[in-house]
Parts: sequence; structure tokens; C-alpha cells
Amino acid sequence: MRLADITWPKAEQYFKEKDTVMIPIGSIECHGRHMPVGTDMLIPDKIAELVEEKSDILIVPTIPFGACQSLAPFPGTIHIDSEVLYLYVRQIVDSLYRHGARKIIFLNGHGGNVSTLERIGLEYEEKGVMTVLLNWWLMAWDMNPEWKGGHGGGEETAAIMGIDPSLVDYSEIGGPLKMKDVNENIVATGWRSVKFKGVQVDILRSTRSITDNGWIGTDHPNTATEEWGKEMIKTTADYIVDFIEELKKVEL
Ligand SMILES: [Zn+2]
Repeated sequence: MRLADITWPKAEQYFKEKDTVMIPIGSIECHGRHMPVGTDMLIPDKIAELVEEKSDILIVPTIPFGACQSLAPFPGTIHIDSEVLYLYVRQIVDSLYRHGARKIIFLNGHGGNVSTLERIGLEYEEKGVMTVLLNWWLMAWDMNPEWKGGHGGGEETAAIMGIDPSLVDYSEIGGPLKMKDVNENIVATGWRSVKFKGVQVDILRSTRSITDNGWIGTDHPNTATEEWGKEMIKTTADYIVDFIEELKKVEL
């Protein structure tokens, strides 16, 4: 059941009987040259759609925007500062809390949101709220280690193909991942990480300084298939439905 689709008396009735809500949240940001900038919001929104078919949980409209400072230079990316995101999401949580929500499930599609959601969750724990943070792309690794992937790589590309294959620009899935090393001895290994003399340290630089096309991951996007994406999204949604049922048994 989507909050946006029901009347306030129906919402009042819901909170008389139940105390659990789900808030999908994502990001609008570069995901390589081949994927839509809405990737991180489209995937949680699709998972929420499947959860809705099998669960009676109240689902808040998907928050499209997130914190993505390092990707901000890529055209189309909309970055929300963590301070603003914190205040914005906290107000949403606060409204739901006033109406009676005590178990809040964030269905998150974007790593840059995690620290903000953790901050809100810990604050509301003091008010008697249990906050669940479901980072779908990490859950998928446990469900099937072969699904493990990075930003804009095979995992996310498969998920988008599973939602709508026409959203992927296949002509842009190119050659090997090339990250820009700092020099011949300080070698780029990930988002921020570099290796020097076998030890990994972080150099804080924007993604555009690390890669030209904007995908970072060990999993190549050309490994993605529509079947993989469909199965991964369905498996994740089914897991969440089971998790919600188990959460109903938890007494606060
Ligand atoms: Zn992503």
C-alpha cells in the first residue's frame, strides 16, 4: 500500500493497527555512460513495487535524491548535501513518528546515504523507534555471492535490465575499467582508495578524477543479463517480505 494513494482516514486506520513503514530512498547520479542517472532510485522503487504485491506494509513515496558529492561533476547528477538530506529525511521520519510509526524500514539504493540514515536511526532509537537499513545491493551479495558488484558494474546493470532493458545504453558498455593512478607508484584501486607499497590508503578526490566514464567496480557491466536482474530483484523483494513478517513479531 502506497501512502500517496490513500486518504488520511485510511492512513489513520493503518496507524491504529500497525506501526511499520517503508521509505525507499536513492540518488540521481552518474552510473557510467551506459546507465540512467536514476539507477539508485529506480531499483529500490521496483523492489518496493514487488514488496507491495505481497505485503501489507505502508510504503512512503520513494525519495529520489541522495548525497553524491564525489559524482557531482558528471552532468545530470543532483547532489544533496548530507546536512540537507539529514534534515529532509528526518522531517519525513518525524511526521511518520507523530502518526504512530515505530518501525521504520529504509530501503536504500545508494551508499552515500548510509551515514545520514544511520544518524537518523540512532536518534530515533532514543524515542523508541527501531530503524532497519536495507541496502539492497549488499543484501544481494549474501543471497548470491555471484551477484556481488560495484557502482555501475554488472550487479546494478543487471538490476536495471531486469526493470527495463531499454534503460541501458548498450552501445556505451565499453572496454576494461580504467582508473586514473596518481602516479606510477600510487595506484588507484577504487572510489577513494589507492595502493602504495602494498598498503591501501584513501585519497579524497572526485570520481571524475578517478574515471572518465563513471563506473567503478570489479564486475564489468557486460556481464549483466536481464534474467540475473529479474531474479535478483525478485529474490530481494521476497526476502524483504519475509523480513517484514519477522519484524511484526518484534516487541519494542
Ligand atoms: Zn548505484
